[in-house]
Amino acid sequence: MSDPVTDKLRDDIGRARGTDYFLMKEQLTAEEARILREVREFGEREILPIANSYWERGEFPFELVPRIAALNIVGDHNMRLPGCRPMTAVGAGLVMMELSRIDSSVATFFAVHLGLAMQSINLLGSEAQRERYLPQMARFEKVGAFALTEPDHGSDSVALEATAKREGDEWVINGRKRWPGNAVWCDYIIVYARDVADKQVKAFVVEKNNPGYKATKIGGKVSLRMVQNADIILTDCRVSEDARLQKCNSFKDCARVLMGTRNTVAWASLGNAVSAYDIALTYAQRRTQFGRPIAKSQMVQSMLVSMLGDVTAMQLYCIRLGRLIDDGKLEETMAALAKYYCSVKARDVCRMARDVLGGNGITLDFHVIRHMCDMESLVTYEGTAEIQSLIVGRDITGQSAFV
Ligand SMILES: Cc1cc2nc3c(=O)[nH]c(=O)nc-3n(C[C@H](O)[C@H](O)[C@H](O)COP(=O)(O)OP(=O)(O)OC[C@H]3O[C@@H](n4cnc5c(N)ncnc54)[C@H](O)[C@@H]3O)c2cc1C
Repeated sequence: MSDPVTDKLRDDIGRARGTDYFLMKEQLTAEEARILREVREFGEREILPIANSYWERGEFPFELVPRIAALNIVGDHNMRLPGCRPMTAVGAGLVMMELSRIDSSVATFFAVHLGLAMQSINLLGSEAQRERYLPQMARFEKVGAFALTEPDHGSDSVALEATAKREGDEWVINGRKRWPGNAVWCDYIIVYARDVADKQVKAFVVEKNNPGYKATKIGGKVSLRMVQNADIILTDCRVSEDARLQKCNSFKDCARVLMGTRNTVAWASLGNAVSAYDIALTYAQRRTQFGRPIAKSQMVQSMLVSMLGDVTAMQLYCIRLGRLIDDGKLEETMAALAKYYCSVKARDVCRMARDVLGGNGITLDFHVIRHMCDMESLVTYEGTAEIQSLIVGRDITGQSAFV
């Protein structure tokens, strides 16, 4: 039933006011500020009104794909190709932050397509392969997925068991993959498999209509519900040598792709946290209990300040991360620390925001619970918080604690 106070709150939320406490926008170039504004307006206009219903139904909003294509936000600092918008790493991060501020499922769809699938081809493909695949993917005429994780190898995907055997001009791939986003319906799936001859990990572009490729949607997810993650079975899946990414010669090459996406998850975490904090602040100012706004309670203010502190720290992390990438100074361990810090802190912020909203905190109407559930995936994918912690721990102590 409609209630005027709740309706007003609903109208007010999600507008990202008061979330730039340290005047971070002053750090942006004019073009970066333009990107931020464009994606923000798009998200509030096109995604926010439909996010909850698609999330609740666990369906992907396909109608958004051409609209995202028209927005022209595919680009980054090292992918200078026709169809890609020249963009600093901060600009690319802002795209992720703003998409995630509205909805992490849509942001994840975008990140898998661009950061994992397109970047695999960009970094590991030959010039001919980059020209063949990337322009059409930049226009979203073809959508990509990235299949690394297996049912028995997640954190230790370095030990992946899918095999690739060369037969003449073809490769025959066998094995199983678990979790790839977009993989149920996309056009190209970048499959990582171990060459039986030299035991090294190679990458292959598998097309969805390949008779050896079978993808089944993973059901029952309570996080990123719009993203269609798949269990994949590859049975004598034949691809031509042409479809093997020519510069992928070992797992280390795949790790280069993952370094970029850890940076992306840091920005995406920030987007979720900004949204949750913004909603909690607005709610606390409007919600009255004991005859006064709950924002007048010391404990509620303490929660809001704690959230703002974390959001501001994440903003500083992300801007610096972007500038390090643009300056060519980013190390794998820096990306790991940023992914670790931002994903864990953003999950805390979302939980605290959900507390500020009381009972309304668990309804989709107020969005916070969607951000909170979605953060569970962000803490896990692209390497769990624990694995990021081990990467940084090894770096600062010189001791590997992986095994
Ligand atoms: C929503 C979602 C989307 C995803 N999308 C993709 C995708 O598009 N493509 C893809 O290839 N993969 C994808 N993944 C897979 C994701 O990268 C893995 O889930 C992740 O790497 C963790 O692997 P796992 O789930 O097998 O957990 P496990 O590796 O089994 O880990 C379980 C727990 O053990 C801990 N752990 C493991 N090893 C150690 C250790 N040495 N020391 C301390 N703790 C340890 C982990 O931190 C974790 O807490 C996705 C996952 C999710 C949830």
